[in-house]
Amino acid sequence: MSRNERRPPAQQQRQLEPQRKTCVACEQPMWVAYHTERTILTLQGLCQIRLVVRRCRNQQCSRYQQPYRPEEEGRWALPHGECGLDVIALIGTLRYREHRSVPEIHQELKERGVQVCERTVEHAMHRYEELVTVHLQRRERLHQQMEKQGRALLAIDGLQPDVGHEVLWVIREVLSGEIVLARALLSSAHKDLAGLLTEAKELLAVPVSGIISDGQQSIRKAVVSVFPSIPHQLCHFHYLREAAKPIYEADRHAKKELKKKVRGIRAIERSLEEEGGEGGEGGEGGQEAPVVRDYCLAVRSALTDDGHPPLSAPGLTLHERLTQISASIDRVAEKRGFPFSLSDCNDC
Ligand SMILES: [Zn+2]
Repeated sequence: MSRNERRPPAQQQRQLEPQRKTCVACEQPMWVAYHTERTILTLQGLCQIRLVVRRCRNQQCSRYQQPYRPEEEGRWALPHGECGLDVIALIGTLRYREHRSVPEIHQELKERGVQVCERTVEHAMHRYEELVTVHLQRRERLHQQMEKQGRALLAIDGLQPDVGHEVLWVIREVLSGEIVLARALLSSAHKDLAGLLTEAKELLAVPVSGIISDGQQSIRKAVVSVFPSIPHQLCHFHYLREAAKPIYEADRHAKKELKKKVRGIRAIERSLEEEGGEGGEGGEGGQEAPVVRDYCLAVRSALTDDGHPPLSAPGLTLHERLTQISASIDRVAEKRGFPFSLSDCNDC
């Protein structure tokens, strides 16, 4: 069955930037040269990624004018591929570990909300096969490429499709975008990863000048054992995400508790609506009603401000905004000589 309808627009957007801003050859700053876009089918749907590409501007440098793409790009998809590496890893596992047929895999993907045709499944299956078997031809191409570059920058990623315990480990060379080695392993112990890194090191036959990965303990140990003196850069995105997890949870809890304290706002809003309906502008409470309404609005907008976790924590933002509102009400109360202030209230 082929796809007749047009591909739907991407559900997610991401911008990827090179983490390295200086040239690997001459250490001079690399300038942003251009932006480019790719649309990739991931297990979370279509994702449009915008890539920032840098270049070395030093005319004396061996990498002069050569594009340097974001290191993370290769984790998303193979060069020129539209199918995400996570989708390929899942299809590979379903095929070779679970022995499912193409129509069965197609059905499984459909159930997960991944819209592909059977041809794409077959195509991805072939990509997976190519990935995990090192062809002699590919090895030669890699050698030539490395000889030209004189150095390699490695990235190691583990892709875990949520079936079984298998992880597809992929070692990429960042400067060329080439896959050095890919292997599905049932264990992600540091000894197994060290084995993969050693194999990659032998395949390359040029010095490795840096490693990029996320902060997983087993990867760190493996890198230290195989490349003890090589700089190991932790991927900013994954590092931040790991560090943010406990903060995010605590902040979400704080926001939930804070929300409970301003539940009473609904009753105030309701009584304002009733008063407003009677046209009470001229009445005793008429002058205060718009002010109270403004305060209600301020609380409402504070409640719906989700911030951008982890860098701007929504719970902390809500606390800050509610504190400001409460202080403002206190000031008004003091001016008007109200009998009690909000800070005396036991519910708050
Ligand atoms: Zn340079």
